[in-house]
Amino acid sequence: MDLEGLNRVIQQMEENIRENKVYLSDLDQAIGDGDHGVNMARGFKEVLAKLEESPAKNPADLLKKVGMTLAMKVGGASGPLYGTGFMRAGAALGDQEEVSISDLAKILKAGIEGVQARGKAVQGEKTMLDCLIPAQEALEKALEEGKDEGPALDILVEAAKQGAQDTKMIKATKGRAAYLGERSRGHLDPGAVSSALLIQAIRDHK
Ligand code: ADP
Ligand code: MG
Repeated sequence: MDLEGLNRVIQQMEENIRENKVYLSDLDQAIGDGDHGVNMARGFKEVLAKLEESPAKNPADLLKKVGMTLAMKVGGASGPLYGTGFMRAGAALGDQEEVSISDLAKILKAGIEGVQARGKAVQGEKTMLDCLIPAQEALEKALEEGKDEGPALDILVEAAKQGAQDTKMIKATKGRAAYLGERSRGHLDPGAVSSALLIQAIRDHK
């Protein structure tokens, strides 16, 4: 994928988030403070404005600009977390023009490490990581097995959706939902659902 393709992925991310803004905030209403969809939609709107005003010069630059904008413009925990994730993802690339499917596995991994460095959460705490980690691992495994790009992306997307669904059973121990303890069970984690929407955009962009 080249810079133009990656720009389309970011546009698709904005669209997926915008179309699910109310849904994401409703999920957050149940176990948090009800702002996740609004936070994310505002952040991605700012991202598109930023990229319009100063277009990225290569994929690494693009991811860093997305990250910086999200970190600065999104209120709530998720802004700095996604912001750090995108910035670390960008930092994992050199000044290359193309991002391959194995680069994707690498930058997802770097992004996850960024989220973890910032938020100190591990898998199983009912956060975005419960989507991102199994999705990245499924992609890595698919590539190790020699899968081509198309099937590997399908595996990535399915694992992301499954990971988000599986947060329903988890008791939250990080983020606002942790205040609910046992009562957080039975609800999807909004950040895991937004992560799945972002990952879907990697495959489903126009
Ligand atoms: P806030 O909780 O400040 O209102 P948002 O509602 O925008 O922020 O985002 C909430 C989401 O952030 C949660 O659903 C969860 O996925 C994610 N999150 C919260 N804390 C952490 C953390 N420490 N590590 C990873 N993700 C987290
Ligand atoms: Mg919230």
